[in-house]
Amino acid sequence: MKIGFIGLGNMGGPMAANLAAAGHDVTGFDTAAPMPVGVTAADSAEAAVTEVDVVVTMLPNGQILRDVAASIIPAMKQGAVLCDCSTVDVDSAKAVADQARLAGLAALDAPVSGGIGGAQAGTLTFMVGGPDDAFAKVVPLLDIMGQKTVHCGDSGAGQSAKICNNMILGVTMIATCEAFALADKLGLDRQKMFDVVSTSSGSSWSVNTYCPAPGVGPKSPADNNYTPGFAAELMLKDLNLSQQAADSANADTPMGALARQLYHSFVEDEDGRGRDFSAMLPRFTQRNT
Ligand code: NAD
Repeated sequence: MKIGFIGLGNMGGPMAANLAAAGHDVTGFDTAAPMPVGVTAADSAEAAVTEVDVVVTMLPNGQILRDVAASIIPAMKQGAVLCDCSTVDVDSAKAVADQARLAGLAALDAPVSGGIGGAQAGTLTFMVGGPDDAFAKVVPLLDIMGQKTVHCGDSGAGQSAKICNNMILGVTMIATCEAFALADKLGLDRQKMFDVVSTSSGSSWSVNTYCPAPGVGPKSPADNNYTPGFAAELMLKDLNLSQQAADSANADTPMGALARQLYHSFVEDEDGRGRDFSAMLPRFTQRNT
């Protein structure tokens, strides 16, 4: 397939490289990042998308996606699909899909879970919103970049699934960190705490797979001095998006709101920026002493 790829940063770079390595003809554009191996450089976003079957975007936020979409949609050929893999607000995903539809194109929102490691290894999970025929066309590409794809529904459903998942993740990570800090205070050995919780009703991905306590459980960023991994500021971005969505849908999300507030303080006032989101554990242990 001929593919245009826009946004070749930490995530987009290895995703585009994997598509090229699988034999697809990939043309890329980024305002700053270098071209990945096997990807042909275009001079502009518009030049990267003319004559391609599928355009993949992997951009920082909803406003940049809207700007890029406005410039590339008129340059795309009829029948082409715009597949946005960025994490953006639900309203931007829907607006871009509407704009594509008006131009006779199809658009998918297809955000990912799995991080930079998953992008490099081709093991991402994709959650997708948009029409069936566009999904069918793009799914072979998602199968190269990832190991699991769920078609969640209409436009916006992929972003909705992503932010709901990450709201659970942010809340459970904070609960896990405060519980480990409490266990410390109670004199409980961290390994014993893990052995019980990971096989009991308090278990979760945050405990079992990504334990925030160094030297306990499978290897995680805690074992690497909390180098991300998944940076606290990216978790804050996703919690901002889930609260924005909750406001616009009039949904009651008090735990999500509190998680957002705690990650905001952590990133802005408590040296959390650039640290893994599980570094909430030393934050709680330090505050409690
Ligand atoms: P990044 O900042 O490394 O990459 C974004 C790229 O977009 C940069 O290279 C930047 O130069 C480029 N860009 C910005 N404006 C542009 C424009 N107008 N035209 C062309 N290129 C432009 O970010 P990332 O970590 O690759 O994340 C990308 C998206 O994936 C974000 O929406 C993020 O929330 C999401 N995401 C990231 C992770 C992660 O672990 N990094 C995990 C899941 C989802």
